[in-house]
Amino acid sequence: MIDDLIAAVGRGNVLTGEDIGPRYYSDAVGRVGQLPRAVVRPRTTAEVSRVLAICHAHGAPVTTQGGMTGLVQGAMPQAGEIALSLERMNDIEEVDTGNGTVTVQAGCVLQRLQERVEAEGFSFPLDLGARGSCTIGGNIATNAGGNRVIRYGMMRDLVLGLEAVTADGTVVDGLRKYIKNNTGLDLKQLFIGSEGVLGVVTRAVLRIYPQPGDRIVAACAMPGFAEVTGLLQHMRRELAGDLTAFEVMWNRYYRQVIEKIPGVQAPFPADRPFYAIVEASGADRDKVSAGLQAALEGALEQGLIEDAVLSKSQAEALAIWKIRDASVEVSGTMRPCVGFDVSLPIDRMAEFADRADADARGFDPEGYASVFGHLGDGNLHVVVHHSGRQADAAHRIERMIYDLTGSYGGSISAEHGIGLLKRPYLDRSRTAAEIALMRTLKQAMDPKGILNPGRIVEA
Ligand SMILES: Cc1cc2nc3c(=O)[nH]c(=O)nc-3n(C[C@H](O)[C@H](O)[C@H](O)COP(=O)(O)OP(=O)(O)OC[C@H]3O[C@@H](n4cnc5c(N)ncnc54)[C@H](O)[C@@H]3O)c2cc1C
Repeated sequence: MIDDLIAAVGRGNVLTGEDIGPRYYSDAVGRVGQLPRAVVRPRTTAEVSRVLAICHAHGAPVTTQGGMTGLVQGAMPQAGEIALSLERMNDIEEVDTGNGTVTVQAGCVLQRLQERVEAEGFSFPLDLGARGSCTIGGNIATNAGGNRVIRYGMMRDLVLGLEAVTADGTVVDGLRKYIKNNTGLDLKQLFIGSEGVLGVVTRAVLRIYPQPGDRIVAACAMPGFAEVTGLLQHMRRELAGDLTAFEVMWNRYYRQVIEKIPGVQAPFPADRPFYAIVEASGADRDKVSAGLQAALEGALEQGLIEDAVLSKSQAEALAIWKIRDASVEVSGTMRPCVGFDVSLPIDRMAEFADRADADARGFDPEGYASVFGHLGDGNLHVVVHHSGRQADAAHRIERMIYDLTGSYGGSISAEHGIGLLKRPYLDRSRTAAEIALMRTLKQAMDPKGILNPGRIVEA
């Protein structure tokens, strides 16, 4: 079989044994998987098709790899798997400013795409911390979100057309450049967010937008969670399409940042229960700034906020964002700890966060939960600290928080996906009928089960 793969993509693009570097079997946080049977690096869709046809004929399992920044072991090779790396499929084929689209191969790194589109005076709005490593194919396969979902949606909302290759090597070409298309089933949705278990994404047509202009940012201090959700509604009403981000921070998170992280300028003391960051942007900087200023004054009059600071320059805007961007460093100060990325209905978040903290303390006298997140998307980050003295603490805390999330009708994976790591908890967020339908789709599209076996549902 290896000879067939070499014939398909060339000798230099099939790596085996010691030629396989660690980046093909470790992820962005340094977790290490199994050495793959081989790494195959196609350059074109036709080569992906040939590779999958060979693997299908041999019943050989394949894991598709982008930038290895999804942290649920979706792309991490398991014993005997072929790693299909899309790293050589990185062409930006066309920036079409008339149609507002960019056509790109799946292995292109997100940041390269953002920069290329910006050079044409446009913006590709998906943005996340892993931008320098993650790929468009990985962003599509995990339906990535990021900082501006409230304005532009998730990856699903940015994909107009898609080309994918199914398990037997069939190329499904849906590379179309328009929004409205009601010609039967919307097949691209099968591949978006399905973590590579139904096919390999090879090329995509994505939406681009006019550049949004400067970002105006406000930090707000609030007396309670009802005021936080009130402020979100108020800002949605007052700023409409100019609202680009709305982040919430519980008191503990804010206190940790200003007390422990060097270089952060605190706009307020850590004596209020909640803090928010509101970002607005639009073509006319002065108009957006005046709009945000007026919205803040209105919120102050209605008692939604107790204090606010508005950025007057990009440096000040970045300084406010630094409070939220310090989350990785804050988690570093909380070790040992376990991080979660969950979604909840907004009206249940406050109670959920209180319960998570109480459960963390119940689990371990030194335990606590630190909470912050993208309020507009229903997405909360929860980091649970523990003493490290309890046996099997990380697994027990995982089960505790996923059970809690399920009991509040939430999603155990707002980002990253399910992969192998979260598979045991999928039933906390999806019904038995939903999981059975996922299996039916998998069976229909990949009857030999060669694509990312065991990810999302059991092989
Ligand atoms: C620092 C950091 C910040 C992050 N921030 C966010 C965030 O704000 N929002 C968010 O949503 N996520 C975030 N993520 C996780 C996010 O899922 C990934 O960063 C990204 O979307 C995955 O892209 P990748 O190319 O690295 O995919 P990989 O990690 O290589 O793969 C992820 C999954 O997609 C599959 N896959 C990869 N390429 C393809 C393809 N071409 N066709 C089919 N399947 C494929 C893999 O098999 C695997 O199951 C973050 C991760 C890190 C490390």
